[in-house]
Amino acid sequence: MLSTPPLIRRTDASVGTQDPLSRLQRALLQPYDLTGHPLLERQSARESSARTYPRRIPLALRRGRGIYVEDVAGRLFIDCLAGAGTLALGHNHPVVVEAIRRTLDDELPLHTLDLTTPVKDEFVETLFELLPPRFARDARIQFCGPTGADAIEAALKLVKIATGRQTLLAFQGGYHGMTQGALQLMGNLGPKAALGGAVSGVQFLPYPYAFRSPFGLDAAGTSAASLHYIDQLLADPEGGVPRPAGLVTELIQGEGGVIPAPDDWTRQLRRITEGADVPLIIDEVQTGFGRTGRMFAFEHAGIEPDVLVLSKAIGGSLPLSVVVYRGRLDRWTPGAHAGTFRGNQLAMAAGTATLRHLQQEQLAEHAAAMGARLNRALLELQRVHSGIGEVRGRGLMLGMELVDPAGATDPLGRPLAAPERAVRLQRACLERGLIVELGGRHGSVLRLLPPLIITEREVDAVVEIIGESMKTL
Ligand code: PLP
Repeated sequence: MLSTPPLIRRTDASVGTQDPLSRLQRALLQPYDLTGHPLLERQSARESSARTYPRRIPLALRRGRGIYVEDVAGRLFIDCLAGAGTLALGHNHPVVVEAIRRTLDDELPLHTLDLTTPVKDEFVETLFELLPPRFARDARIQFCGPTGADAIEAALKLVKIATGRQTLLAFQGGYHGMTQGALQLMGNLGPKAALGGAVSGVQFLPYPYAFRSPFGLDAAGTSAASLHYIDQLLADPEGGVPRPAGLVTELIQGEGGVIPAPDDWTRQLRRITEGADVPLIIDEVQTGFGRTGRMFAFEHAGIEPDVLVLSKAIGGSLPLSVVVYRGRLDRWTPGAHAGTFRGNQLAMAAGTATLRHLQQEQLAEHAAAMGARLNRALLELQRVHSGIGEVRGRGLMLGMELVDPAGATDPLGRPLAAPERAVRLQRACLERGLIVELGGRHGSVLRLLPPLIITEREVDAVVEIIGESMKTL
């Protein structure tokens, strides 16, 4: 059914023609020794102290195909980080490579600021066809930076200018990027500490994180209390919170620990924000384009945002970000949000090819099916390992919160998060040929963001590696 691209280039004898999964079976029996390579040593000597992933994923990569990457030592890995969720079609998918080649062959100017081209026009039309028709009918698009954070910056300016208001609402645990404006919206205080701590103008709201309920309630109670709190906050003339320019949310908090918002919570949030005339900004930078089992995560709840922030998968693995919003918010003036690199033609071509392929191959449905299989298997693991506190997520955006079953409990009686076990698990997976990321409070959630083209056999291989790795804890 699915055209999973072969890993091996037939002409390249060095990687052979062997089935990648049988190569990975060997890594299970004889885990990789990941001690330093000269490239890694040079990287740590030259690159900034702010570098992140190489610290826990010490790999020098030389090749990628589908869900696999190979490092310079010839070791094969399943990539369940996939560019932090960017690579919807995996590495070097033929339709993406072909779109980039075609664009190069056409001698299109590769950089056009925000001038239009046939490639840009096709990209916009393709994207708008994927949006809910009512939203698309009067929507406007702004090309941004090209990072997710720059699109968030644009969204904030857009709603502030449109409403004439200054403040914003965001959620505890939210992640929206690393520029100063985006950091304002972030729940995690760590990255903000060196910049003077919390920044004024943003009011944080409790997210429906049922496993660690901010209210000490069960799932239904947490959701209801969160909504009641927001409703009251917006209605109370003496609540000390000015009417905000917008409310920003993810519908599955990704970096915050893979925390899905219940659909009914999302519907009620839409109702509350609409009633209070507060633009609802949905950040689908990570959830966008099939990952959660629908093209956009907001479709699960049957709602529409006022402002939609998109990046990562939208560029088909190349940098691209946009904000799509209701026409009535289009009150800003020329240059209100600019930036040199808004016209990346290769990214638009790769993005169009990716979006079309997602649709043609029904990869959102495929992600739902593969995600359900993965989720079921992780729940099976949880039954065997008491160190897995919760398995959660949607589609192919899944997480496993690691806990210390023998340690102290929180006020709800749940074992506390176990960040050091999560780090050991991540390492054990890597040694067995699986790249995964950590996130969530204290970095205790193992995150899985595989390319959407993953097959059943590959899902089973991922679970086998995690299962074997769990045994080492
Ligand atoms: N919003 C969400 C939900 C994200 O997950 C991220 C990045 O992971 C961003 C925004 C920021 O995107 P970028 O890292 O491209 O600036």
